[in-house]
Amino acid sequence: MAKPNVFRTCDTALIWPRMPSAGDASILVMDIQLSQSQSYDAERLQALQLNQLSGLIDHAFATVPFYRDRLTSVCTASEATNLTTGLTIDMWRQIPILKRDEVVKAGAKLQSTAVPSSFDPITGASTSGTTGDPVTIKKSSVDQLFFHANRLRAHRWTGVEFSKPMANITVLNAHTKKLADQNKAVPWAAGHVSGPMYYCDTNRPVDDKIDWLLKTKVAYLMTSPSSLRDLITRSKARNISFETLSHIICTGEPLSGDTRALCDEEWSLPVWDIYSTQEAGIIAAQCPDHEHLHTMAESLMVEVLDNNDTPCQPGQTGRVVVTPLQNFVMPLIRYEIGDQTEVGEAVCSCGRGLPVIKHIQRVTPS
Ligand SMILES: [Zn+2]
Repeated sequence: MAKPNVFRTCDTALIWPRMPSAGDASILVMDIQLSQSQSYDAERLQALQLNQLSGLIDHAFATVPFYRDRLTSVCTASEATNLTTGLTIDMWRQIPILKRDEVVKAGAKLQSTAVPSSFDPITGASTSGTTGDPVTIKKSSVDQLFFHANRLRAHRWTGVEFSKPMANITVLNAHTKKLADQNKAVPWAAGHVSGPMYYCDTNRPVDDKIDWLLKTKVAYLMTSPSSLRDLITRSKARNISFETLSHIICTGEPLSGDTRALCDEEWSLPVWDIYSTQEAGIIAAQCPDHEHLHTMAESLMVEVLDNNDTPCQPGQTGRVVVTPLQNFVMPLIRYEIGDQTEVGEAVCSCGRGLPVIKHIQRVTPS
């Protein structure tokens, strides 16, 4: 039986009740809200999303040069500056889809000229460019807060114990490269007593990664599906098994049924799927009771559209179009992310009302 997760305290003298730091407290308050809203029904979630999107559109129209013409074509200037009372789903669906090449071309014109100070500090992130021209996105501390809260929720759904160690074999940035080079670890479960997360560069030779993983003796492995397949295939050839591993978490690329089956067959381990991109953060995470995923509806509007830009119905596959609800630095309104997915059933037996998607596939963006 899994041990209960314990809040991190900011001072070892304050062990009961636990006293979170200000930063941890923000994440934990968001975590509480997400644990409540995830059971709202679809109608209530969409109404709350539209309310939040009204403010985003208002802000984008007023302060983002790129959206001046784009939003005026949908609603008059007076409507665009007074949407907080009445953005409807029909009005929303008139806004043109934002393509990746438009984001590349627009550059700084997609950035707000007046970001409220509550969004500081502003950070940047770039896509790898493996599925098209690299896209550079500006985000804020608010996006970071939602990333931590959504990741906490996604990990909780997998049933992992926050106090256990995790290995992350991934594409490294400057910060994680330094950690990897120095063999240093950082906590991975925000706001909680957390096990260490060790980083390894996914571009290292597979034999190096296997040897590194053997040494870390972690309980959990997070990596991309393609990296996982390489590890499984090569470790089988070398007749190596990882005795301490109990959970695999895949992210960064769409996870196929074949990879799940391979992991089950060779390692007898379940794979948990987290769907994320650099542009939008965590988009969806695997349901605790099924292989399909629930979208993170509190931080993103996720639409699945057919070739006529009409919403797909359960069982139909279409293009994934996302709108981060809280990115007031560089609003991405109806951004076509370059993936396809199938719309799941409207109601999940787990009791969560968050929309269901499945069978994500990466496609070359138009
Ligand atoms: Zn579910």
